[in-house]
Amino acid sequence: MEYYGENYRPGDLVSCKILERSIVPKTNDEYDSLVEFKIIGVKITPYDSTEFILYVTDDDAWKISNCERIGVRTMNQYLIDDKFEKSYITYAKSEHIFRIVNREDGMFCKNCEEFYDKAEPNQEDDSLICYLCRFNPYR
Ligand SMILES: [Zn+2]
Repeated sequence: MEYYGENYRPGDLVSCKILERSIVPKTNDEYDSLVEFKIIGVKITPYDSTEFILYVTDDDAWKISNCERIGVRTMNQYLIDDKFEKSYITYAKSEHIFRIVNREDGMFCKNCEEFYDKAEPNQEDDSLICYLCRFNPYR
């Protein structure tokens, strides 16, 4: 089962499909690699489209052609944490986010992939199986 939630938020670690150094839509079957990014900000653009500001590690920067060093104005405008000063960033829309790898302050159920705020591991392998799945494994 895949998690296709649209409500991405800062702090989420997400993965994107990369083809020829560009992030391609998650529906693309063709891609060279999957790269993980942390969402550090949300940019609401005119015409109501949302773009996510993705932190690109120095090690991954060469993999993406349209990444840039974050500017002071962007930091202030989108309330980006100071620790990302001078980091590389890139932008992606929700259709370019393949899936959430990890999210802060909670966990995904290993079975149904629902996200539970503030949840902690309850399995021996440090994963979470939610209450509903524990009582109905066929869910
Ligand atoms: Zn579950």
